[in-house]
Amino acid sequence: MHISESRSYPCDIAIVGGGLAGLTAGLVIASQGDASVILIDRDIGSNQSMPLTFLDTVQQFGLEESIVARYHSFALRTRSGGQVLRRFDGTPLVVLDYRSACRQLYEHLRTYSTFAHLPLQARHLAREAVGWRVGLQDGGEVVSRLLIDASGIAHFSARQLGYALPPMYSHSYGQVFGDCNVPADQEGVALFLTGNPRHGNGGGWFYPLSARQASFGFAQLTNLSRFPALECRQGFERAVQEFHPYAEIMQASKREGAHLGSIPLGPVKRLACDGLMRVGDAAGQATPWACMGVEPALLNGQLCGQVAVRAFRRGDLSRSGLQDYEKMWFARNGAGYRKAVMLADLEWQRGEAAWDNTLNQLDRLSGPEMLNSLRYNTPAFSLPLIWGLLVYDRLGLIRRGLRNRLWVRWGSAQLRRDDGR
Ligand SMILES: Cc1cc2nc3c(=O)[nH]c(=O)nc-3n(C[C@H](O)[C@H](O)[C@H](O)COP(=O)(O)OP(=O)(O)OC[C@H]3O[C@@H](n4cnc5c(N)ncnc54)[C@H](O)[C@@H]3O)c2cc1C
Repeated sequence: MHISESRSYPCDIAIVGGGLAGLTAGLVIASQGDASVILIDRDIGSNQSMPLTFLDTVQQFGLEESIVARYHSFALRTRSGGQVLRRFDGTPLVVLDYRSACRQLYEHLRTYSTFAHLPLQARHLAREAVGWRVGLQDGGEVVSRLLIDASGIAHFSARQLGYALPPMYSHSYGQVFGDCNVPADQEGVALFLTGNPRHGNGGGWFYPLSARQASFGFAQLTNLSRFPALECRQGFERAVQEFHPYAEIMQASKREGAHLGSIPLGPVKRLACDGLMRVGDAAGQATPWACMGVEPALLNGQLCGQVAVRAFRRGDLSRSGLQDYEKMWFARNGAGYRKAVMLADLEWQRGEAAWDNTLNQLDRLSGPEMLNSLRYNTPAFSLPLIWGLLVYDRLGLIRRGLRNRLWVRWGSAQLRRDDGR
């Protein structure tokens, strides 16, 4: 598509954000329809991650070239050394080079004549009679009928329009370590480490990338989107020193680059409004417990693009014209995500002893069941049971609060008596 010199760029569909979600949505639209598409992003694939994801999805989107490592096993390990490990047929888990995967989709997208890219940041958003006016960092603007917000953690449209943000965030800090000695029995094993208060309540990971290289990191869960740099860094450094046996593996190694950033958790209330669709991290679509956002970004980017094409062909870009996207997403994921978000505080604040119990339960799973539970990790409890757990927890808090108050009163009465003596 030709971009004019006037710095006002009209198009049918504007996409803010060139991560996996925005690029996939763009590809579906460019390949299936004749709508003109402008992608706004200064830094395609800027998310600093080296994510673990599922081989079948990577293959479905033709991203095999961006695979860095493949895993035949998955394990979950606690700080006390408890571990559950499952070996699969083949290598169903892989680590991706995120930037390279985005670059692959982008190069494909560039081949369509209906597509254009503005390497700029979107700064403002205003509703027009029909569509949107997106103000750019250089003073230019994109005028579009439909806006797809795929801006990830930046939540561009929600911040501009005052919509609620996702309720939780997982903040990760990790490094790639070179020149380390990955033991032969750890090669090909993608490992999650359970959360603990010293290293990160969100848990951690150890992904061997080769016999001499591994990615290791920890995450903190909070209710704020702000990246808690100090806490993340300190938790990570303590884990590098203390988390057995990885501390020993990484002892004399070389740090080759940090992977850090935040994943919004918990879906936004509305995925589609009049002339607006939100997708990927911008919509809080990463899985709420395992915090995996790559597969959701690809699959929901595709769904968002398909619904956008149909709505554009019908000439109905109103909320009701776009609603299929929201309906289909909630039908597939709504109940599970809702339950996971309701239980999130209990899940993340659970003690380490509770993790040992979880290991016992996971130990009953077969390889395929383990893989499924990693992919669709939402609670199997019914809603009444979840409400029961929450009420029980709340009563426990009240009971502990009362006990502490009485304790203080009793303690000061005792002090007064002692002073009077
Ligand atoms: C450190 C880390 C580790 C992770 N590990 C895993 C993992 O192991 N497995 C897994 O499945 N997922 C993991 N994730 C999550 C996963 O990477 C994300 O869920 C996924 O990348 C979301 O894709 P997205 O396209 O929605 O957003 P992003 O990839 O974040 O893309 C958003 C894009 O929007 C652009 N943008 C933002 N604001 C503007 C603006 N105003 N104007 C123009 N452009 C804008 C940004 O430049 C960016 O390119 C991890 C994330 C991080 C940060």
